[in-house]
Amino acid sequence: MDFRIGHGYDVHALGEGLRLVLGGVEIPHEKGCIAHSDGDVLVHAICDALLGALALGDIGKHFPDTSAEFKGIDSLILLRRVVALIEERGYKVGNVDSTIAMQRPKLRPHIDLMRERIANAAGVAVEQVSVKATTTEHLGFEGEEKGVSATAVVLLVKS
Ligand code: MG
Repeated sequence: MDFRIGHGYDVHALGEGLRLVLGGVEIPHEKGCIAHSDGDVLVHAICDALLGALALGDIGKHFPDTSAEFKGIDSLILLRRVVALIEERGYKVGNVDSTIAMQRPKLRPHIDLMRERIANAAGVAVEQVSVKATTTEHLGFEGEEKGVSATAVVLLVKS
């Protein structure tokens, strides 16, 4: 098969006074993601999409949150490792599309830097990485600012 598609979804709860890291970019905000790693919900969704495309399980299987090795880890390091797994199996990343759902703060000013950092970690051009952001109109846990969710789809191409 020349193409494989993958889907990823992740959620983290928000806590006061924690760092908020999305797409490898630290964003000034009074709340951040509660997590074992840096809590980068967007990069986690992308990792899951990449793993899912080759039916390799999920991020929790490869990088257990019980392991001290991954405590506070920069999720872009995890993304690099996932892309290495994909490449070992003879595939390369065609493109990535993703959406973050978060009520506040406005993410648009940070989107292009997120795309650059994700593209850099994944070894692809920035044009191959799309990051979008939406509010949920104050509905649900994202809208109530209790948490953040992200979804991603990827296309892998046989190299
Ligand atoms: Mg996660």
